[in-house]
Amino acid sequence: KLSKRLETVASFVPTGAIVADIGSDHAYLPCYLVHQNIVNKAVAGEVVKGPYESALRQVKLEGLEDKVIVRLADGLQAIEDNDQVDTITIAGMGGPLIVSILEKNPEALTSVTRLILQPNIHAKVIREWALRNEWAILDEVILEEDEKIYEVLVLQRGKMKLNEQQIILGPHLVAQKSNTFMKKWTREIDNWKRVLQSIEQAEQTPEIVQKKKELVHLIS
Ligand code: SAM
Repeated sequence: KLSKRLETVASFVPTGAIVADIGSDHAYLPCYLVHQNIVNKAVAGEVVKGPYESALRQVKLEGLEDKVIVRLADGLQAIEDNDQVDTITIAGMGGPLIVSILEKNPEALTSVTRLILQPNIHAKVIREWALRNEWAILDEVILEEDEKIYEVLVLQRGKMKLNEQQIILGPHLVAQKSNTFMKKWTREIDNWKRVLQSIEQAEQTPEIVQKKKELVHLIS
């Protein structure tokens, strides 16, 4: 059974799409999409040998060799022109890694109309990338599974306007303010409060007070 996280990603793949799942690991997502008759053809890309071999094994095990093509390649280089890929999924990595994959081979996005991205952390950089490259956020989901909180961003081509708060929190997520959303940002605020507190306490130690005096003396 697919994780709730990947099921959420799958739920945004349009019926009949041609999908490339980049960083596919076991290729669970493309195999699921074919089994569910959501797609008829998919590419599973992996840059690391071990996961690439697990993908090959899984696709064979499920008897999907003619529908899920597994390729050993860096990022979007797994996509070939005649694949006619129109939808890309990238899940289970940090936002900055997802963005670096998108930026490395922008030409691979020419025929792509939908991106479904699931950053484990730093979704903000994906929203910034989308703004810069004229992708608009069609939908967003925040979900919790096994004590971890994940975000899923669905992008389509188009311009959008986001303010600072929406870039950080997500325009749809901040409008909904779900329990999971509140939990994530309450946790985040608590963490920053702890950091601030420890900085303030550190400032009170005699060594730091002494260092500060020395510095003041030096620059005065
Ligand atoms: N997408 C799956 C999921 O969400 O469950 C697997 C996530 S796994 C944590 C991240 C995978 O991305 C790893 O198997 C890693 O080898 C792969 N990966 C990292 N950088 C990549 C790149 N530049 N191109 C292709 N795959 C990459």
